[in-house]
Amino acid sequence: MQHRIIVLGAGYTGAIAAGRLAKRLHREDVAITLVNAEPDFVERVRMHQLAVGQDLRLRPFSEMFAGTGVELKLAKVTAVDVDRKTVEVEEAGEAGAAGAAGAGGAAGAAGKTEVLEYDTLVYALGSGWNTQGVPGTAEFADQIASRPGALRLRERLARLGAGQPVVVVGGGLTGLEAATEIAEARPDLDVALAARGELGDWLSPKGRGHLRRVFDKLGITAYEHAAVTAVEADRVTTADGTHLPAAVTVWTTGFAVHPIARATTLEITETGQIAVDRTMRSLSHPDVYAVGDAAMALGPADKPLRMSCATGTPMAWQAADAIAARLTGGKIPKAPLRYFNQCVSLGRKEGLIQYVTADDRAVNAALTGRLAAIYKELVCKGAAWGVANPTLGIPTRRRHIARQQNRTAAKAVKTPA
Ligand SMILES: Cc1cc2nc3c(=O)[nH]c(=O)nc-3n(C[C@H](O)[C@H](O)[C@H](O)COP(=O)(O)OP(=O)(O)OC[C@H]3O[C@@H](n4cnc5c(N)ncnc54)[C@H](O)[C@@H]3O)c2cc1C
Repeated sequence: MQHRIIVLGAGYTGAIAAGRLAKRLHREDVAITLVNAEPDFVERVRMHQLAVGQDLRLRPFSEMFAGTGVELKLAKVTAVDVDRKTVEVEEAGEAGAAGAAGAGGAAGAAGKTEVLEYDTLVYALGSGWNTQGVPGTAEFADQIASRPGALRLRERLARLGAGQPVVVVGGGLTGLEAATEIAEARPDLDVALAARGELGDWLSPKGRGHLRRVFDKLGITAYEHAAVTAVEADRVTTADGTHLPAAVTVWTTGFAVHPIARATTLEITETGQIAVDRTMRSLSHPDVYAVGDAAMALGPADKPLRMSCATGTPMAWQAADAIAARLTGGKIPKAPLRYFNQCVSLGRKEGLIQYVTADDRAVNAALTGRLAAIYKELVCKGAAWGVANPTLGIPTRRRHIARQQNRTAAKAVKTPA
Protein backbone atom coordinates (compact mmCIF):
# COMPACT_ATOMS: atom_id res chain seq x y z
CA MET A 1 0.00 0.00 0.00
CA GLN A 2 1.29 3.42 -0.89
CA HIS A 3 1.19 6.22 1.67
CA ARG A 4 -1.03 8.93 0.19
CA ILE A 5 0.28 12.48 0.55
CA ILE A 6 -1.90 15.30 -0.72
CA VAL A 7 -0.48 18.79 -1.03
CA LEU A 8 -3.08 21.55 -1.35
CA GLY A 9 -1.90 24.59 -3.29
CA ALA A 10 1.03 24.87 -5.69
CA GLY A 11 2.26 28.33 -4.85
CA TYR A 12 5.82 28.82 -3.64
CA THR A 13 5.42 26.60 -0.60
CA GLY A 14 3.12 23.83 -1.79
CA ALA A 15 5.10 23.28 -4.96
CA ILE A 16 8.37 23.15 -3.02
CA ALA A 17 6.94 20.76 -0.43
CA ALA A 18 5.59 18.40 -3.12
CA GLY A 19 8.81 18.42 -5.13
CA ARG A 20 10.97 17.91 -2.07
CA LEU A 21 8.84 15.04 -0.80
CA ALA A 22 9.16 13.40 -4.21
CA LYS A 23 12.95 13.66 -3.93
CA ARG A 24 12.97 12.37 -0.38
CA LEU A 25 10.69 9.36 -0.74
CA HIS A 26 10.51 6.42 -3.08
CA ARG A 27 7.78 6.31 -5.68
CA GLU A 28 6.75 2.78 -4.87
CA ASP A 29 6.15 3.81 -1.24
CA VAL A 30 4.19 7.03 -1.68
CA ALA A 31 1.63 8.64 -3.96
CA ILE A 32 2.06 12.42 -3.95
CA THR A 33 -0.82 14.48 -5.36
CA LEU A 34 -0.51 18.24 -5.77
CA VAL A 35 -3.86 20.03 -6.06
CA ASN A 36 -3.97 23.50 -7.55
CA ALA A 37 -6.62 25.71 -9.08
CA GLU A 38 -4.41 26.84 -11.94
CA PRO A 39 -2.22 24.94 -14.40
CA ASP A 40 0.84 27.13 -14.10
CA PHE A 41 3.00 28.51 -11.33
CA VAL A 42 2.09 32.08 -10.36
CA GLU A 43 5.01 34.25 -9.27
CA ARG A 44 3.03 36.19 -6.72
CA VAL A 45 5.99 38.39 -5.81
CA ARG A 46 5.76 39.91 -9.30
CA MET A 47 2.06 40.80 -9.33
CA HIS A 48 2.81 44.54 -9.25
CA GLN A 49 4.87 44.03 -12.42
CA LEU A 50 2.01 42.19 -14.09
CA ALA A 51 -0.34 45.01 -13.08
CA VAL A 52 1.67 47.65 -14.95
CA GLY A 53 1.75 45.66 -18.18
CA GLN A 54 4.90 43.54 -17.92
CA ASP A 55 4.51 40.00 -19.18
CA LEU A 56 5.71 37.24 -16.89
CA ARG A 57 7.22 33.97 -17.99
CA LEU A 58 4.66 31.16 -18.18
CA ARG A 59 5.70 28.25 -15.97
CA PRO A 60 3.39 25.26 -16.58
CA PHE A 61 3.32 22.67 -13.80
CA SER A 62 3.20 19.93 -16.43
CA GLU A 63 6.80 20.90 -17.33
CA MET A 64 7.89 21.72 -13.80
CA PHE A 65 6.86 18.35 -12.38
CA ALA A 66 7.51 16.20 -15.45
CA GLY A 67 9.24 13.00 -14.41
CA THR A 68 9.18 13.80 -10.67
CA GLY A 69 6.43 11.35 -9.72
CA VAL A 70 4.21 14.15 -8.40
CA GLU A 71 0.70 13.84 -9.79
CA LEU A 72 -0.85 17.19 -10.53
CA LYS A 73 -4.58 17.61 -10.01
CA LEU A 74 -6.01 20.73 -11.55
CA ALA A 75 -8.94 21.45 -9.26
CA LYS A 76 -10.34 23.90 -6.76
CA VAL A 77 -10.30 22.76 -3.15
CA THR A 78 -13.75 23.37 -1.69
CA ALA A 79 -13.52 21.64 1.70
CA VAL A 80 -11.22 19.64 3.94
CA ASP A 81 -12.38 17.11 6.54
CA VAL A 82 -9.43 16.49 8.81
CA ASP A 83 -11.30 13.94 10.90
CA ARG A 84 -12.27 11.77 7.94
CA LYS A 85 -8.98 12.65 6.20
CA THR A 86 -10.62 13.75 3.00
CA VAL A 87 -10.44 16.70 0.67
CA GLU A 88 -13.30 17.79 -1.54
CA VAL A 89 -12.30 19.25 -4.88
CA GLU A 90 -14.08 20.61 -7.89
CA GLU A 91 -12.33 19.93 -11.14
CA ALA A 92 -11.13 23.06 -12.90
CA GLY A 93 -13.29 24.20 -15.79
CA GLU A 94 -12.27 25.56 -19.18
CA ALA A 95 -10.93 28.90 -17.97
CA GLY A 96 -8.86 27.28 -15.24
CA ALA A 97 -7.33 24.86 -17.67
CA ALA A 98 -6.41 27.73 -19.96
CA GLY A 99 -4.57 29.47 -17.16
CA ALA A 100 -6.78 32.52 -17.24
CA ALA A 101 -8.71 31.89 -14.07
CA GLY A 102 -7.98 33.14 -10.62
CA ALA A 103 -5.77 31.82 -7.91
CA GLY A 104 -7.55 31.11 -4.72
CA GLY A 105 -10.15 29.01 -6.32
CA ALA A 106 -11.65 30.84 -9.28
CA ALA A 107 -10.92 27.91 -11.51
CA GLY A 108 -13.31 28.63 -14.35
CA ALA A 109 -16.65 26.94 -14.96
CA ALA A 110 -17.46 24.50 -12.18
CA GLY A 111 -16.55 20.89 -12.94
CA LYS A 112 -17.39 17.65 -11.22
CA THR A 113 -16.85 17.25 -7.50
CA GLU A 114 -14.54 14.56 -6.19
CA VAL A 115 -13.44 13.43 -2.73
CA LEU A 116 -9.76 12.56 -2.28
CA GLU A 117 -8.44 10.55 0.67
CA TYR A 118 -5.08 11.18 2.28
CA ASP A 119 -2.81 9.72 4.90
CA THR A 120 -0.76 12.92 5.21
CA LEU A 121 -1.98 16.36 4.19
CA VAL A 122 0.12 19.43 3.43
CA TYR A 123 -2.05 22.54 3.48
CA ALA A 124 -0.52 25.37 1.43
CA LEU A 125 -3.43 27.37 0.02
CA GLY A 126 -1.74 30.71 0.62
CA SER A 127 -3.68 33.91 1.03
CA GLY A 128 -5.55 36.65 -0.77
CA TRP A 129 -6.02 40.35 -0.15
CA ASN A 130 -7.26 41.71 3.14
CA THR A 131 -9.90 44.42 2.92
CA GLN A 132 -9.77 44.78 6.72
CA GLY A 133 -13.53 45.29 6.49
CA VAL A 134 -13.09 48.90 5.32
CA PRO A 135 -16.33 50.02 3.68
CA GLY A 136 -16.25 50.21 -0.12
CA THR A 137 -12.96 48.34 -0.46
CA ALA A 138 -14.40 45.08 -1.82
CA GLU A 139 -16.56 47.00 -4.33
CA PHE A 140 -14.22 49.73 -5.52
CA ALA A 141 -10.59 48.92 -4.76
CA ASP A 142 -8.16 46.83 -6.81
CA GLN A 143 -5.63 44.37 -5.46
CA ILE A 144 -2.43 42.63 -6.47
CA ALA A 145 -2.49 39.68 -4.07
CA SER A 146 -3.63 37.36 -6.87
CA ARG A 147 -3.16 37.08 -10.62
CA PRO A 148 -6.79 37.86 -11.49
CA GLY A 149 -6.56 40.94 -9.27
CA ALA A 150 -3.34 42.09 -10.95
CA LEU A 151 -4.80 41.50 -14.42
CA ARG A 152 -7.89 43.51 -13.57
CA LEU A 153 -5.76 46.37 -12.25
CA ARG A 154 -3.67 46.18 -15.42
CA GLU A 155 -6.78 46.81 -17.51
CA ARG A 156 -7.95 49.63 -15.30
CA LEU A 157 -4.56 51.38 -15.29
CA ALA A 158 -4.31 51.03 -19.07
CA ARG A 159 -7.61 52.90 -19.41
CA LEU A 160 -6.50 55.86 -17.28
CA GLY A 161 -5.63 59.10 -19.02
CA ALA A 162 -2.71 61.41 -18.17
CA GLY A 163 -2.99 63.18 -14.83
CA GLN A 164 -5.53 60.84 -13.30
CA PRO A 165 -5.02 60.02 -9.62
CA VAL A 166 -4.07 56.57 -8.34
CA VAL A 167 -3.95 55.96 -4.58
CA VAL A 168 -2.08 52.98 -3.19
CA VAL A 169 -3.38 52.20 0.31
CA GLY A 170 -0.85 50.57 2.65
CA GLY A 171 2.72 51.56 3.44
CA GLY A 172 4.09 48.02 3.81
CA LEU A 173 6.39 46.20 1.40
CA THR A 174 3.64 45.46 -1.14
CA GLY A 175 2.38 49.05 -1.11
CA LEU A 176 5.87 50.46 -1.66
CA GLU A 177 6.49 48.07 -4.54
CA ALA A 178 3.10 48.82 -6.12
CA ALA A 179 3.34 52.61 -5.87
CA THR A 180 6.87 52.81 -7.28
CA GLU A 181 6.17 50.30 -10.05
CA ILE A 182 3.07 52.21 -11.18
CA ALA A 183 4.79 55.61 -10.97
CA GLU A 184 7.79 54.38 -12.94
CA ALA A 185 5.71 52.66 -15.64
CA ARG A 186 3.17 55.51 -15.89
CA PRO A 187 4.91 58.81 -15.12
CA ASP A 188 1.87 60.59 -16.58
CA LEU A 189 -0.35 59.45 -13.67
CA ASP A 190 -0.68 61.23 -10.34
CA VAL A 191 0.39 58.47 -7.93
CA ALA A 192 -0.01 58.72 -4.13
CA LEU A 193 0.45 56.32 -1.24
CA ALA A 194 -1.54 56.46 1.99
CA ALA A 195 0.27 54.98 5.00
CA ARG A 196 -1.05 54.49 8.49
CA GLY A 197 2.28 55.59 10.00
CA GLU A 198 5.34 57.34 8.55
CA LEU A 199 6.76 56.29 5.22
CA GLY A 200 9.05 53.30 5.81
CA ASP A 201 9.03 53.87 9.56
CA TRP A 202 10.35 50.35 10.27
CA LEU A 203 13.42 50.83 8.04
CA SER A 204 16.89 52.00 9.04
CA PRO A 205 17.62 55.75 8.61
CA LYS A 206 19.53 54.95 5.41
CA GLY A 207 16.67 52.84 4.06
CA ARG A 208 14.07 55.45 4.95
CA GLY A 209 16.10 58.26 3.40
CA HIS A 210 16.53 56.31 0.20
CA LEU A 211 12.83 55.51 0.02
CA ARG A 212 11.93 59.20 0.31
CA ARG A 213 14.42 60.12 -2.42
CA VAL A 214 12.94 57.50 -4.78
CA PHE A 215 9.41 58.71 -4.00
CA ASP A 216 10.48 62.29 -4.78
CA LYS A 217 12.21 61.23 -7.99
CA LEU A 218 9.14 59.32 -9.16
CA GLY A 219 6.78 62.12 -8.09
CA ILE A 220 4.82 59.97 -5.62
CA THR A 221 2.92 61.85 -2.92
CA ALA A 222 3.13 60.15 0.48
CA TYR A 223 0.17 60.75 2.80
CA GLU A 224 1.44 59.75 6.24
CA HIS A 225 -0.63 59.01 9.35
CA ALA A 226 -3.46 58.56 6.88
CA ALA A 227 -5.45 55.44 7.76
CA VAL A 228 -8.06 54.97 5.05
CA THR A 229 -11.54 54.44 6.46
CA ALA A 230 -13.68 54.36 3.30
CA VAL A 231 -13.28 53.75 -0.41
CA GLU A 232 -15.59 55.06 -3.10
CA ALA A 233 -15.50 54.87 -6.89
CA ASP A 234 -13.48 58.07 -7.26
CA ARG A 235 -11.91 58.77 -3.87
CA VAL A 236 -10.76 57.44 -0.53
CA THR A 237 -11.40 58.99 2.87
CA THR A 238 -8.89 59.00 5.72
CA ALA A 239 -9.55 58.86 9.46
CA ASP A 240 -9.42 62.66 9.82
CA GLY A 241 -12.07 63.09 7.13
CA THR A 242 -9.72 64.08 4.30
CA HIS A 243 -10.83 62.99 0.83
CA LEU A 244 -8.10 61.91 -1.59
CA PRO A 245 -9.15 61.71 -5.24
CA ALA A 246 -8.59 58.22 -6.69
CA ALA A 247 -9.60 57.10 -10.17
CA VAL A 248 -8.04 53.80 -9.12
CA THR A 249 -7.44 52.63 -5.53
CA VAL A 250 -4.90 49.84 -5.02
CA TRP A 251 -5.47 48.08 -1.69
CA THR A 252 -2.34 46.53 -0.13
CA THR A 253 -2.98 46.37 3.62
CA GLY A 254 -1.73 42.85 4.27
CA PHE A 255 -3.04 39.44 3.31
CA ALA A 256 -5.88 37.24 4.60
CA VAL A 257 -6.05 33.46 4.43
CA HIS A 258 -8.78 31.55 2.60
CA PRO A 259 -11.68 30.43 4.83
CA ILE A 260 -11.26 26.68 4.19
CA ALA A 261 -9.13 25.97 7.28
CA ARG A 262 -11.55 27.87 9.51
CA ALA A 263 -14.33 25.50 8.45
CA THR A 264 -12.39 22.47 9.75
CA THR A 265 -11.73 21.18 13.27
CA LEU A 266 -8.07 22.17 12.94
CA GLU A 267 -6.64 24.44 15.60
CA ILE A 268 -6.35 27.84 13.99
CA THR A 269 -5.38 31.30 15.15
CA GLU A 270 -7.54 34.45 15.14
CA THR A 271 -6.21 35.17 11.66
CA GLY A 272 -7.53 31.83 10.40
CA GLN A 273 -4.01 30.44 9.97
CA ILE A 274 -3.32 26.85 10.99
CA ALA A 275 -1.37 26.61 14.25
CA VAL A 276 1.75 24.47 13.71
CA ASP A 277 4.79 23.36 15.69
CA ARG A 278 8.43 23.84 14.66
CA THR A 279 8.13 21.00 12.15
CA MET A 280 5.06 22.63 10.53
CA ARG A 281 2.81 19.92 11.92
CA SER A 282 -0.69 20.93 13.00
CA LEU A 283 -0.99 21.28 16.77
CA SER A 284 -4.34 19.51 16.71
CA HIS A 285 -4.04 16.95 13.86
CA PRO A 286 -0.65 15.22 13.56
CA ASP A 287 -1.28 13.98 10.02
CA VAL A 288 -1.77 17.55 8.79
CA TYR A 289 1.08 19.95 8.02
CA ALA A 290 0.64 23.58 7.00
CA VAL A 291 3.12 25.88 5.31
CA GLY A 292 3.40 29.38 3.87
CA ASP A 293 0.83 32.10 4.39
CA ALA A 294 -1.78 29.55 5.52
CA ALA A 295 0.22 28.56 8.60
CA MET A 296 1.04 30.36 11.81
CA ALA A 297 4.54 29.28 12.77
CA LEU A 298 6.81 30.89 15.33
CA GLY A 299 10.22 32.18 14.32
CA PRO A 300 13.13 33.58 16.34
CA ALA A 301 12.16 35.06 19.72
CA ASP A 302 8.88 33.13 19.35
CA LYS A 303 7.52 35.84 17.08
CA PRO A 304 4.96 34.73 14.47
CA LEU A 305 6.54 34.58 11.02
CA ARG A 306 5.10 37.17 8.65
CA MET A 307 3.50 35.99 5.41
CA SER A 308 6.37 35.90 2.92
CA CYS A 309 8.29 33.73 0.52
CA ALA A 310 11.36 34.46 2.60
CA THR A 311 10.01 32.32 5.44
CA GLY A 312 7.51 30.26 3.45
CA THR A 313 10.30 28.53 1.54
CA PRO A 314 12.12 27.16 4.61
CA MET A 315 8.71 26.27 6.11
CA ALA A 316 8.09 24.08 3.06
CA TRP A 317 11.55 22.48 3.34
CA GLN A 318 10.89 21.86 7.01
CA ALA A 319 7.49 20.24 6.47
CA ALA A 320 8.71 17.99 3.66
CA ASP A 321 11.79 16.92 5.61
CA ALA A 322 9.77 16.27 8.76
CA ILE A 323 7.22 14.16 6.88
CA ALA A 324 9.93 12.19 5.11
CA ALA A 325 11.89 11.69 8.33
CA ARG A 326 8.84 10.59 10.29
CA LEU A 327 7.82 8.16 7.57
CA THR A 328 11.25 6.68 7.21
CA GLY A 329 12.41 6.81 10.81
CA GLY A 330 15.12 9.36 10.03
CA LYS A 331 16.26 12.41 12.01
CA ILE A 332 14.34 15.61 11.29
CA PRO A 333 16.67 18.32 9.97
CA LYS A 334 16.06 21.93 11.07
CA ALA A 335 15.40 24.52 8.36
CA PRO A 336 16.59 28.10 9.00
CA LEU A 337 13.36 29.83 10.00
CA ARG A 338 14.79 33.30 10.32
CA TYR A 339 15.15 36.56 8.40
CA PHE A 340 18.23 38.00 6.73
CA ASN A 341 16.93 40.98 4.79
CA GLN A 342 13.86 42.62 3.34
CA CYS A 343 14.19 42.96 -0.41
CA VAL A 344 12.06 45.72 -1.90
CA SER A 345 11.83 46.60 -5.57
CA LEU A 346 11.20 50.32 -6.18
CA GLY A 347 10.37 50.06 -9.85
CA ARG A 348 12.73 48.27 -12.24
CA LYS A 349 15.70 50.60 -11.79
CA GLU A 350 15.72 51.16 -8.04
CA GLY A 351 15.62 48.90 -5.02
CA LEU A 352 16.22 48.66 -1.32
CA ILE A 353 17.73 45.75 0.55
CA GLN A 354 17.19 46.37 4.25
CA TYR A 355 19.29 44.04 6.39
CA VAL A 356 17.47 42.78 9.47
CA THR A 357 17.99 40.74 12.62
CA ALA A 358 16.91 37.09 12.74
CA ASP A 359 13.53 38.26 14.04
CA ASP A 360 13.05 40.87 11.29
CA ARG A 361 14.11 44.15 12.93
CA ALA A 362 16.02 46.57 10.72
CA VAL A 363 19.73 47.01 11.43
CA ASN A 364 21.67 50.06 10.37
CA ALA A 365 22.78 48.66 7.02
CA ALA A 366 21.01 48.77 3.68
CA LEU A 367 21.88 48.31 0.03
CA THR A 368 20.23 50.84 -2.27
CA GLY A 369 20.01 51.95 -5.88
CA ARG A 370 20.60 49.98 -9.06
CA LEU A 371 22.57 47.26 -7.30
CA ALA A 372 19.66 46.67 -4.94
CA ALA A 373 17.28 46.43 -7.92
CA ILE A 374 19.51 43.76 -9.48
CA TYR A 375 19.75 41.92 -6.15
CA LYS A 376 15.96 41.92 -5.77
CA GLU A 377 15.53 40.65 -9.33
CA LEU A 378 17.92 37.79 -8.55
CA VAL A 379 15.95 37.00 -5.36
CA CYS A 380 12.70 36.75 -7.38
CA LYS A 381 14.38 34.58 -10.01
CA GLY A 382 15.89 32.47 -7.21
CA ALA A 383 12.50 31.99 -5.54
CA ALA A 384 11.01 30.60 -8.76
CA TRP A 385 14.13 28.52 -9.39
CA GLY A 386 13.83 27.12 -5.87
CA VAL A 387 10.34 25.83 -6.69
CA ALA A 388 11.72 23.84 -9.58
CA ASN A 389 14.73 22.74 -7.50
CA PRO A 390 13.20 21.92 -4.12
CA THR A 391 16.18 20.18 -2.57
CA LEU A 392 18.05 23.47 -2.40
CA GLY A 393 19.35 23.87 1.14
CA ILE A 394 20.33 20.26 1.67
CA PRO A 395 24.10 19.80 1.60
CA THR A 396 24.92 17.26 -1.13
CA ARG A 397 26.33 14.72 1.28
CA ARG A 398 23.35 14.95 3.58
CA ARG A 399 20.95 14.60 0.67
CA HIS A 400 22.71 11.46 -0.39
CA ILE A 401 22.54 10.05 3.12
CA ALA A 402 18.88 10.96 3.39
CA ARG A 403 18.16 9.18 0.12
CA GLN A 404 19.94 6.10 1.38
CA GLN A 405 17.91 6.22 4.57
CA ASN A 406 14.71 6.48 2.61
CA ARG A 407 15.70 3.61 0.38
CA THR A 408 16.08 1.25 3.30
CA ALA A 409 13.65 2.69 5.80
CA ALA A 410 10.80 3.54 3.44
CA LYS A 411 9.99 -0.15 3.29
CA ALA A 412 8.64 0.33 6.79
CA VAL A 413 6.19 3.03 5.67
CA LYS A 414 2.68 1.94 6.46
CA THR A 415 -0.64 3.59 5.82
CA PRO A 416 -2.14 4.32 9.24
CA ALA A 417 -5.49 2.66 9.81
C1 LIG B 1 2.76 41.82 -5.00
C2 LIG B 1 3.39 40.93 -3.98
C3 LIG B 1 4.75 41.06 -3.72
C4 LIG B 1 5.35 40.23 -2.80
N1 LIG B 1 6.69 40.35 -2.58
C5 LIG B 1 7.30 39.54 -1.71
C6 LIG B 1 8.70 39.62 -1.53
O1 LIG B 1 9.37 40.44 -2.13
N2 LIG B 1 9.28 38.75 -0.66
C7 LIG B 1 8.56 37.82 0.02
O2 LIG B 1 9.16 37.06 0.80
N3 LIG B 1 7.23 37.73 -0.14
C8 LIG B 1 6.58 38.55 -0.99
N4 LIG B 1 5.23 38.46 -1.16
C9 LIG B 1 4.47 37.47 -0.37
C10 LIG B 1 4.53 36.11 -1.03
O3 LIG B 1 4.13 36.19 -2.37
C11 LIG B 1 3.63 35.13 -0.30
O4 LIG B 1 3.99 35.13 1.07
C12 LIG B 1 3.81 33.74 -0.89
O5 LIG B 1 3.28 33.70 -2.19
C13 LIG B 1 3.13 32.69 -0.01
O6 LIG B 1 3.31 31.43 -0.59
P1 LIG B 1 2.21 30.31 -0.39
O7 LIG B 1 2.71 29.09 -1.09
O8 LIG B 1 1.83 30.22 1.01
O9 LIG B 1 0.91 30.87 -1.15
P2 LIG B 1 0.68 31.24 -2.66
O10 LIG B 1 1.95 31.59 -3.34
O11 LIG B 1 -0.41 32.24 -2.64
O12 LIG B 1 0.12 29.89 -3.29
C14 LIG B 1 -1.13 29.36 -2.97
C15 LIG B 1 -1.55 28.43 -4.10
O13 LIG B 1 -2.76 27.81 -3.74
C16 LIG B 1 -3.68 27.89 -4.80
N5 LIG B 1 -5.02 27.92 -4.23
C17 LIG B 1 -5.53 28.79 -3.36
N6 LIG B 1 -6.79 28.45 -3.04
C18 LIG B 1 -7.06 27.32 -3.71
C19 LIG B 1 -8.18 26.46 -3.78
N7 LIG B 1 -9.30 26.68 -3.09
N8 LIG B 1 -8.09 25.38 -4.57
C20 LIG B 1 -6.97 25.09 -5.26
N9 LIG B 1 -5.88 25.88 -5.24
C21 LIG B 1 -5.93 26.98 -4.48
C22 LIG B 1 -3.31 29.17 -5.53
O14 LIG B 1 -3.77 29.11 -6.87
C23 LIG B 1 -1.80 29.16 -5.42
O15 LIG B 1 -1.22 28.43 -6.46
C24 LIG B 1 4.59 39.27 -2.10
C25 LIG B 1 3.23 39.14 -2.36
C26 LIG B 1 2.63 39.95 -3.29
C27 LIG B 1 1.17 39.79 -3.57
